Amino acid sequence: MNNWEVMERDLKVNWHPCTQMKDHQILPMIPIRRGEGVYLEDFEGNRYIDAISSWWVNLFGHRNPYINRKIKEQLEELEHIIFAGFTHWGAVRLGERITQLTGLDKVFYGDNGSSAVEIALKMSFHYWKNRGETRPLFFSLENSYHGETIGALSVGDVGLYKETYREILLENRTLPIPADQSEEETVKALTQIRQIFERETQTPTGNPISALIMEPLVQCAGYMKMHSPQFVAGLAQLCREFNIHLILDEIAVGFGRTGTLFAFQQADIKPDFLCLSKGLTGGYLPLSLVVTTDEVYQAFYCDYKEMKAFLHSHSYTGNPLAVAAANATLDIFETQPVLEENRKKSQYIWEKIQKFKELPNVKEIRQTGMITAIEMIPYPWQERRGLVVYQYGLQNGVLLRPLGNVIYFMPPYVIDYSEIDQMIEVAYRGIELAQTQKWG
Ligand code: PMP
Repeated sequence: MNNWEVMERDLKVNWHPCTQMKDHQILPMIPIRRGEGVYLEDFEGNRYIDAISSWWVNLFGHRNPYINRKIKEQLEELEHIIFAGFTHWGAVRLGERITQLTGLDKVFYGDNGSSAVEIALKMSFHYWKNRGETRPLFFSLENSYHGETIGALSVGDVGLYKETYREILLENRTLPIPADQSEEETVKALTQIRQIFERETQTPTGNPISALIMEPLVQCAGYMKMHSPQFVAGLAQLCREFNIHLILDEIAVGFGRTGTLFAFQQADIKPDFLCLSKGLTGGYLPLSLVVTTDEVYQAFYCDYKEMKAFLHSHSYTGNPLAVAAANATLDIFETQPVLEENRKKSQYIWEKIQKFKELPNVKEIRQTGMITAIEMIPYPWQERRGLVVYQYGLQNGVLLRPLGNVIYFMPPYVIDYSEIDQMIEVAYRGIELAQTQKWG
């Protein structure tokens, strides 16, 4: 079978995510037959460096021998069981390890990132309700992204995904973000936010805000906008002062992407809820966690007749195969100097991309840990210049998937230095080409 045949048959039956399907009349889809390390290989033997970790999930390469082995071992024991009234050894180990690593106390399971966000929002609201308060609103940040289900979309702010559904979304309060990572902009934004906190949390009928939800350090789907650890610390302080929860969405930035295992560690704070997914299983299987405090847990812990239990459930909660992948991923962090090696790699990437500043269509370069973004000048979105870079990348063996005018690298950590060179060179030439070419 060749690429063309697979694509033709696919298009007859499948509807793909985040895609205008009509684009495929002119834009070929790439059917992948196998993966290895940072490479994806199509049905005709072409190889592509997965510079975006397959939507930010993969950490230690495709078909990682260790994770493969651990999933196979689990498969021989138990594939799945109901997680209400039952447990399994992998979940015990994962719970112990995640609480130890995060400094939090209790782990609740979901099976994708958006579900984790829904769980955290519901849990926070329910906590206040169990304590006799009804707080129907949430604070979230400008330009934020927390997933595509209705609740998650309600606390997001990327118009492209949200606008169409505005009438059916929940009411929400959006807070400004700093223009950049500088101290001046950070202080400016925090001052404005303090005023909003003062206004919105103190109403004649009490405080209507359950929590603030944010992505610490990098707003990934929000065009890789970055802010400082001070901003995260400042918001955590405001949440404490005004007695609302802090929900950190580390679905994309967790597990080393920002340089530390979790982004919040750079701000030296502790959230009330931490949402994890994506890299949690090394990019193998869908799983998410909401990690919270004993204080939250205790607000639900009482005699059944008081009706305060958190009755949220998903069929695949705590799936043993996904949990085995997560434990294997943590084993790799534990036994190999991953973060240390990443620091060298991110420094190398940063030095190498300085030359992008010479390109007249590059507005800014920025980096946080293993996330690096190159923002082109604000071309009108209709010109789809990012797509020119995407196409050029595929023709030259690199999977880049720009967000509008922003080209970024978020590669698996196993990428080596020559692969980094190739990834950067292809992006450079793609951006150069986008000076003179547009799409459609
Ligand atoms: N939050 C963030 C920060 C994300 O980046 C994403 C996914 N891109 C989600 C939530 C939603 O996760 P999922 O796609 O698994 O529902």
